Amino acid sequence: MNPPTAANAPRSGTAWRGLIEEYRRYLPVTDSTPVVTLREGNTPLIPVPTIAAEIGKGVRVFVKYDGLNPTGSFKDRGMTMAVTKAKEAGGEAVICASTGNTSAAAAAYARRAGMRAYVLIPDGYVALGKLAQALMYGAEVIAIKGNFDRALELVKESAEKYPVTLVNSLNPFRLQGQKTAAFEVTDGLGNAPDWLCIPVGNAGNITAYWMGFNEYYQEGRCTKLPRMMGFQAAGSAPFVQGGIVKDPETIATAIRIGNPANYDKALKVRAESNGEFNPVTDEEILVAYQKLAAEGVFCEPASAASVAGLLKKKDAVPFGATIVCVLTGNGLKDPDTAIKRSGDDQFYQGVEPDMASVAKLMGF
Ligand SMILES: *Cc1c(COP(=O)(O)O)cnc(C)c1O
Repeated sequence: MNPPTAANAPRSGTAWRGLIEEYRRYLPVTDSTPVVTLREGNTPLIPVPTIAAEIGKGVRVFVKYDGLNPTGSFKDRGMTMAVTKAKEAGGEAVICASTGNTSAAAAAYARRAGMRAYVLIPDGYVALGKLAQALMYGAEVIAIKGNFDRALELVKESAEKYPVTLVNSLNPFRLQGQKTAAFEVTDGLGNAPDWLCIPVGNAGNITAYWMGFNEYYQEGRCTKLPRMMGFQAAGSAPFVQGGIVKDPETIATAIRIGNPANYDKALKVRAESNGEFNPVTDEEILVAYQKLAAEGVFCEPASAASVAGLLKKKDAVPFGATIVCVLTGNGLKDPDTAIKRSGDDQFYQGVEPDMASVAKLMGF
């Protein structure tokens, strides 16, 4: 079950060394590449039996909880590679547009590498925890009066005009790092799953997973390839509508993207994997978000789109299938949504500090 390690990277002990070292031979690095790592990767594949029971048919459902990466999202997988390669090329600064998690990861890895990070975010549409991270890691945070899509246009132009490296998922090294999640899923299950359910924003992650599964398949490390099932928020679903969405809206701010950077690549993934793109409403996302919490797994709303989508498509799930839902980010990123979603029948405020009052609320 151990992933392959490079012969030239002997380990003294069993501690996980980060995905570049652990999967070195699959990645574009050399012995002299200055690896920038926070020991990302190696996240758990957690069974969710209640959700599996809701589907029935003897299916097994796991969540790949990538919210347990160092900055709390899968973006760390891409950022360790992107910042490593920027450093190797002598870069001194990185830039990204972000709905939040990319900025947190870029800020952390850039800081670790002694580089500056500039991040452009849509003002008012970034979850609180993500903003706190980018600031704390020392990024220059530029909140624009425009959405993610506009921010991306501006950073692309910046990267052409100024000495800054673009680290959005247009940066090919991002996808190289992110494909390792497919390796971990396959190593963990002993084979690829039948379905891979994943939230889709810019569609970098779905593209990277597909790349990873294919590389393992070609090496005989799995005997099948999954159907790639991408899910988008209904108010922000360019892949479902078949074109750019001008004013995307959803509570799942991490996937509030109307003009995906990896549009054509993701269409290819759908075709090659016999996959699908389907929409889920904000309400369906929030229901799945709470179902996951009831299994002990707290993810952010965008991540729950994968499980919301699976439940929506349950009639199409084959008997006995093994399904992996990707949970892209940690629930702590967005405390506002979590607290708003919790009921008044659960959170009693301003209670008198006496036993009678407390016991009454406990139902005794
Ligand atoms: C970035 C992100 C996504 C979307 O990933 P893409 O590669 O842009 O499709 C989904 N969920 C969370 C939590 C994210 O941070």
